[in-house]
Parts: sequence; structure tokens; C-alpha cells
Amino acid sequence: MKVLLLAGTVEARQLAEQAHELRRVELVASFAGHTRAPRALPCETRTGGFGGADGLARYLREGSFDVIVDATHPFAAQMQRHAVDGACLAGIEHARLVRPPWTATNDDHWVDATDVVDGARIVGEFGVPRVLLTVGRLDLAAFAGLEPTEFVVRSVEDPDPVPFAAIATLRARGPFTLDEESALIDRYGVGLLVTKNSGGNDAKLAAARANGIPVVMVRRPAPVTEHNFADARDACSWLASLAS
Ligand code: NAP
Repeated sequence: MKVLLLAGTVEARQLAEQAHELRRVELVASFAGHTRAPRALPCETRTGGFGGADGLARYLREGSFDVIVDATHPFAAQMQRHAVDGACLAGIEHARLVRPPWTATNDDHWVDATDVVDGARIVGEFGVPRVLLTVGRLDLAAFAGLEPTEFVVRSVEDPDPVPFAAIATLRARGPFTLDEESALIDRYGVGLLVTKNSGGNDAKLAAARANGIPVVMVRRPAPVTEHNFADARDACSWLASLAS
């Protein structure tokens, strides 16, 4: 059984490592090509877009794929839609593997944002002098024009260029610790955190909670498939059952 794994996340790597052990499953992992040095996976890999849902369907048919597992980031909304449409056009199985979202505790002060544009509007309403922005380098444009608010921007890859005057642009890849996140908040006098609800390591949220800092939490795009997995082991078991 031939499986296309849309990769670029920890969950995709976990599934590739586990599915590697499965007999009768041939895995091909696909990267968008945005990360300069993705960690190697124990399977065939390819890089770059497919050319929309039609291009993906063509790729799936020509490669005789039986299944697509979309393990892209919770906010890779376009790829998620294309994966569903491409699988439908090619007439193959589709599943989504995505880590669970974060949920607020009673000690958190989160403001829900429907998307990054809504998040920027909320930042403007807060009027906090210093904001830590961790929405990813591709979604910074929405936060332009909010002066006198000052931003500390942190992203995994260098943003090119930041579309506003940031007081600091930090390139860093987590996971971070609570102490590291608290030190960052102290160093820059951060009064508000903006993040997408990516799930996973929550040290920045714990630090915001510990420091009494509100969080603008950008909501995830709605799920679009019936086979949803939050854990690579469950997705791997599903593949094993299809292959048997
Ligand atoms: P997106 O807006 O949903 O996708 C844009 C286009 O990139 C897609 O239409 C597709 O091009 C191509 N693409 C995306 N993922 C691909 C994959 N795994 N293999 C081949 N092509 C892919 O996605 P994005 O937000 O730009 O994210 C791109 C990649 O970075 C994803 O793989 C995602 O997992 C990863 N990532 C995203 C975020 C985030 O916050 N959005 C954070 C961390 C990692 P075609 O239409 O030409 O097929």
C-alpha cells in the first residue's frame, strides 16, 4: 500500500518512524520546502508544491498512491483543503494527523481570535506597549500599522523582511523552557503574547500565566475530514489496518 505523507511537523516525523516498521506500507513524505534543513526521515522524500488540488490528484494517480495522510501544521489551511480535494479527485483514502490544540486553564487570560487579522485587531484594542508575536514569519503583515505598539518577533526561520519596525527579531526553534520564556518576557517588558493555537510545547503559555500576561490565541482552521488522529500511533494503526 502506497502512502503519501504530507510532512514538516513532529507528528509527521513520528508517523514516518513508526510506519517504517510496517510491512506492506511504502511511504513517501512530502515537504513544502520552506524549512531550510528539515530533519531526515526514514523513507523516500520529495519537496515542493504539487500545483493545487488538481496537481496533487495527478501526482497521486501517477504515483499509484492508495492513501494520503496530511500531517502538516494545524495552520497550513490551504494544504489541508488541497489534500482533501486531491484525495477525493484521485479516489483514495485521506486522513489528518494533527496534535491537539491547547486549552485555557482557569488561571489563563486568553482572548480568542478567529484568524491573524482578527488577532491584529485585538492587539490594537489592547494598546499594550510591548507585544511578543509568535505567529510565524509568513503571517506578520497583519500586524503592520499598529504603532505605537512595539513588537518582539520570534520565528523559526528569518522573516524577510519584517513589515514593521520590530524592537527585536529573534530566530529560534523550540522547545523552550518556562524559565527561558519568562526571561524573554522580563527582558523585553512584554505585556501581551500573540500565538496561533498550534498545540505542543506550552512553555510560552505557562510563562504568560505565571507573569499574569494576557494571550491573543488565534483559533485553528476547522477540521475537514472524517479520519482525524491526534497521535501518530493511532494513525499508524489505521495504516496497518488498511494494509492488512
Ligand atoms: P499552506 O498555506 O497550507 O500551503 C501553501 C502551499 O504550500 C500549498 O498549497 C502547497 O502548494 C504547498 N505545501 C504545503 N505543505 C506542503 C507539503 N507538506 N508538501 C508539499 N507542498 C506543500 O501552508 P503553509 O502555512 O505555507 O505551510 C507550509 C509548510 O510549512 C507546511 O508543510 C506546514 O506543515 C509547515 N508549517 C507551517 C506552519 C504555519 O504556521 N502555517 C508552521 C510550521 C510549519 P501547492 O498548492 O502547489 O501544492
